[in-house]
Amino acid sequence: MPIRMCAACRGRFEKRELIRIVETSDGGIRVDKAQKAQRRGLYICGGCLPDAQRKKVLERNFRRKIEPEVYERLRAEAADNG
Ligand SMILES: [Zn+2]
Repeated sequence: MPIRMCAACRGRFEKRELIRIVETSDGGIRVDKAQKAQRRGLYICGGCLPDAQRKKVLERNFRRKIEPEVYERLRAEAADNG
């Protein structure tokens, strides 16, 4: 199983344990559940997701302003296993 790094804590995890977040073609940001989108993105571990907003993880990686709603939506999407 491939190993990827969490963008927040730099810890290394099996890919399937991480949450992949990608930038879509229309500039949106979403959770890539299948982890297969050919998009610019990052991985974050479940432990870091609640702190991602405070640590500005997305701002640093996508180099732009991220609305607080985006973080809220990502947390909801990551929690939804359906
Ligand atoms: Zn982490």
